[in-house]
Amino acid sequence: MKVADLRTTIVAVPQRRAYPSSWRRSYLGSTPALAVIVELETDDGLVGIGESPVVYAGRPEVTVALIEGVRELVVGADPFHGDVLRRLLQAETGMAHLGTAGISWGLAGIDMAIWDLVGRACGQPLHRLWGGAWRERSPFYADIPPGEPAAMADDARAWVARGFTTLYCKVGFGIDLDVARVRAVREAVGDGPRIRVDANQAWGPGSARSAIARLAEYGLEYIEQPVLASNLEEMAEVRRSVPVPILAHEAALTPELCLQVIARRAADALQLDPRFGDGIAGARASALAAEAAGLPVVTHTFGELGVATASVLQLHAAHRNFVHANQTYYWNLVDDVIAGGPLPFDGPFLQVPTGPGLGVELDRDRLAEHAARYEREVRGRPPSVPQDPFYARDYLLRPRV
Ligand SMILES: [Mg+2]
Repeated sequence: MKVADLRTTIVAVPQRRAYPSSWRRSYLGSTPALAVIVELETDDGLVGIGESPVVYAGRPEVTVALIEGVRELVVGADPFHGDVLRRLLQAETGMAHLGTAGISWGLAGIDMAIWDLVGRACGQPLHRLWGGAWRERSPFYADIPPGEPAAMADDARAWVARGFTTLYCKVGFGIDLDVARVRAVREAVGDGPRIRVDANQAWGPGSARSAIARLAEYGLEYIEQPVLASNLEEMAEVRRSVPVPILAHEAALTPELCLQVIARRAADALQLDPRFGDGIAGARASALAAEAAGLPVVTHTFGELGVATASVLQLHAAHRNFVHANQTYYWNLVDDVIAGGPLPFDGPFLQVPTGPGLGVELDRDRLAEHAARYEREVRGRPPSVPQDPFYARDYLLRPRV
């Protein structure tokens, strides 16, 4: 079996509400969610599907260019030699020398589609090829976007009423404001739900210690990436001096970084993304390394559609230590590109797909509809930015103090 053709389709899928993001522009900025759907067709007629996110300046054409740049290496490849192909792509794109995190997300759709082909050729969902299912469904959390504390409290109550048991808030906007927001959320939902906060590396070590000491009063599940991801010594020091467990995110983008976090004892849990580093295989290696170290893992989101969501669900099923709520904005989509429409939530849970490969099929009509929306409403226009200029500008440019 060899890959005979590679196709990409840019899609724009309507969202219920705009979510400001730490990436500011692109898929979460406002209005439609953007993604690049990848199809790899083999010489024996199988079609593997994948999905790459839109990260670079909100421009899906850049994602497509990254994929097209390796077309000659992918066409002709044997999907059962996927690890070899991945190393070849890293060598040919400079990633082997310069690091993977800056580009690898663009090629994620290829990695996903190669795995999908392997599963389809075997007639098995990927989690069965990876050793079986530790769970049949996987939990996700609800994101409470930053705003007035009273509005965040209303949001939190609504999510808990829908059955969500983990809530997530961004912090790092100023300690008093952070505390007011987290307090409002906690008071709104009572003691039961977990609250995870994410500082996106906002704090220096002193600020981190004092902020976390105050926020700890509200019973936090994790504080995500409180300090610079590049300074693991500082992260480990903060971890030792605060009463809230630390979740490594930007510090845990690749298997190599995960090993460093584990070795330096810089976190209590790791947030993985199969679109970075060594792709899905790398995320599996990181999950296994974390399991060996006794650490839970969760997955990060780029605002996936159903294809990439299916890929993380396969991952969640196959590894024992995906025990906590994962990040997603999937509940924000009005539609999807997969057959049957969006995967349905049962409270905070999505079922792990059991069809072959990723376990989902493209819906050609939906794919065409959302591709047409991209051409009609998005292409050639400036990338969208969130409506909240405080969040968008100051959050990204804030000093780390
Ligand atoms: Mg994060």
